Amino acid sequence: MTSTVIDLRSDTVTHPTASMRAAMASAEVGDDVFGEDPTVNRLEEKAAAILGKEASILLLSGTMGNLVGVLAQTRRGDEVLAGPNSHLLNYEAGGVSVLGGVQMRAMQWTRGVFDVEEIAHAVRDPHNLHFARSSLLCLENTVNREGGATVSVGDTDAMCDAAHAQGLRVHVDGARIFNAAVSLGVTPARLVREIDTVTFCMSKGLGCPMGSILAGSADFIAEARRWRKMVGGGLRQSGIFAAAGVVALDEMIDRMSVDHANAKALASGLANVPGLRVDVDRVQTNIIMVTVDSPKASSQDFVAGLASHGVKVGSPYGDTLRMVTHYQFDAAQIPVVLKAAERALGLVTAAA
Ligand SMILES: *Cc1c(COP(=O)(O)O)cnc(C)c1O
Repeated sequence: MTSTVIDLRSDTVTHPTASMRAAMASAEVGDDVFGEDPTVNRLEEKAAAILGKEASILLLSGTMGNLVGVLAQTRRGDEVLAGPNSHLLNYEAGGVSVLGGVQMRAMQWTRGVFDVEEIAHAVRDPHNLHFARSSLLCLENTVNREGGATVSVGDTDAMCDAAHAQGLRVHVDGARIFNAAVSLGVTPARLVREIDTVTFCMSKGLGCPMGSILAGSADFIAEARRWRKMVGGGLRQSGIFAAAGVVALDEMIDRMSVDHANAKALASGLANVPGLRVDVDRVQTNIIMVTVDSPKASSQDFVAGLASHGVKVGSPYGDTLRMVTHYQFDAAQIPVVLKAAERALGLVTAAA
């Protein structure tokens, strides 16, 4: 397990902790399609309580969470509004359209925040036969492609008010909702209080091997159980991996502040490396966006150079790439990454 490679490609690379592995090895299990897996039931109750919702359901992945979340509250021919660079619209293989007959529509946002006036104008006249029916507004928090930006309680509440006033329901893709809550200094339940349905990923900063949770009203979750079964997500002794989630909710949320502090410190260091640009003020959680602006190396060269010095980072899009901190990266590794960055840019020789 010990390795000199520092992996900052994503927080999904994290391995289960020793206490998760112990919990998994001794997990009480049953048939969850029959509702009889006590560990799954415990996880679903615990997750719902943390999010302040009536109920929740365990799914295989964040993509499945968003898919089931959308399918369980839309009909064929409905329209779902989402941010132009949202995960749901860009990185989920068009699932809600293919499997749900739902049309996705991009609406401008500013780092995850839709203009409340625009929400009102975006909704189509339901009596006009030309239009798809607008039914769901999808938020994301933190916003992955906006460098892990947080969306505040005030903005979230205001967007929910505007959407609900138009008869829209609101879903939040909260793959990293705990990073958001920790960074904002609010409880997860307060952050999503006005939201109808929320997902979070167990396999990112929480460190679990797999799984996502979708939470909402008891009626909604009952409907979601049908859709989960339909897309092949009804599992049997899933307490085996749910056990890791129970541990994660106790042990892995508060410590995310460490990941955020490490991201900030790493970002500050990178900002001082000639040939790199980092907006340190925008590093609010565990994601750092780094722009390569060097006569010596393209972003591709930089990523390859880092890899040759034992540091893995996200593949670049254009001149920008992503680094993500997590519990398996610690502050002592920051100078190692900075040295690798200087070498990758030809600023110091390998011997230096
Ligand atoms: C990771 C992620 C997901 C879900 O991804 P899976 O790989 O399917 O678990 C959804 N939304 C956002 C914003 C994410 O970062």
